[in-house]
Amino acid sequence: MRGGIDLGGTKIEAIVIESGTDVLGSARHPTPTSGGPADVAAEMVKAMEEACSAAGVKPSDLEGVGVGSPGSVDHEKGTVANALNLPNWHDPYELGPTLSNALGCKVLIGNDVQVATEGEFQLGAGKPFKSLLGVFWGTGVGGGIILDGKEWLGRGGAGEIGHMVIKRDGALCGCGRRGCVEAYAGRGSMEAKARKEHEDGTKTDLFKIMKHRGRTRLTSAVWAHALEHKDPLATELIDRAVEALGAGIASAINLLDVEAVIIGGGLGVRFGQPMTDRIIAAMHPHLFRDDRPPDVHLAALGDLGGAIGAALLAR
Ligand SMILES: [Zn+2]
Repeated sequence: MRGGIDLGGTKIEAIVIESGTDVLGSARHPTPTSGGPADVAAEMVKAMEEACSAAGVKPSDLEGVGVGSPGSVDHEKGTVANALNLPNWHDPYELGPTLSNALGCKVLIGNDVQVATEGEFQLGAGKPFKSLLGVFWGTGVGGGIILDGKEWLGRGGAGEIGHMVIKRDGALCGCGRRGCVEAYAGRGSMEAKARKEHEDGTKTDLFKIMKHRGRTRLTSAVWAHALEHKDPLATELIDRAVEALGAGIASAINLLDVEAVIIGGGLGVRFGQPMTDRIIAAMHPHLFRDDRPPDVHLAALGDLGGAIGAALLAR
């Protein structure tokens, strides 16, 4: 049995898995929004212990635990630096050794998007293919590349589909540059745009729905609810996001010509197949070889895909 932890900006998802995709126990904890790396690590330990007790095992009995983390990951040392969505996490922190001490088993750290891509490739919607592009549409827009059956990391910075420039001098991105896919499609950017439009007097129920659901952020569920009720601003911003994703993914296909695209992430999974179909349609006008488009599939491992992919690290 192995453990997997998906460390996200809003939640920590921990699972215990036997083999493949059979989840024996799971736990979800909110990610601490204050404090620092040690507080986040302590919460991860609690989540893993809870997942273990649900599975009827002790953490020390696990073959190992894999962690998918945001930020810059040093796989060898087990450190994470510059995790900007996590509280006060700039300098390298020894996440792997800290968790390993607390749990009593080996812990391996990988990049969150890379482990999610690997999970879909080995166990999910990417299984039939030798080359693919994983697109994780959530707070940001992350990407992972598999070429000839192997992960392509470049010099460590490959796969940044969210920072493909689709409009020169376009919308400001969280990365400080302009015109990136993420500046239009990232949940964070869409929320910032919605807040500004709302303050400027545009009518929308997005924030009413947010409060009604006891949230402080426009979560994927809030967006989905607003779309179902045909909220004009939500509709406009999602249309814009889909166009941006279509252009960015098609450009990546024109360069790499991989066999398949897998759409995952919080928004991708929440919106499901109908939105995946819209992304396919938005890609089409930008595909150079439009007679032979790639297969585009919704991620098959769903919400737990990040944690399932992370558990693969511990094999
Ligand atoms: Zn950017």
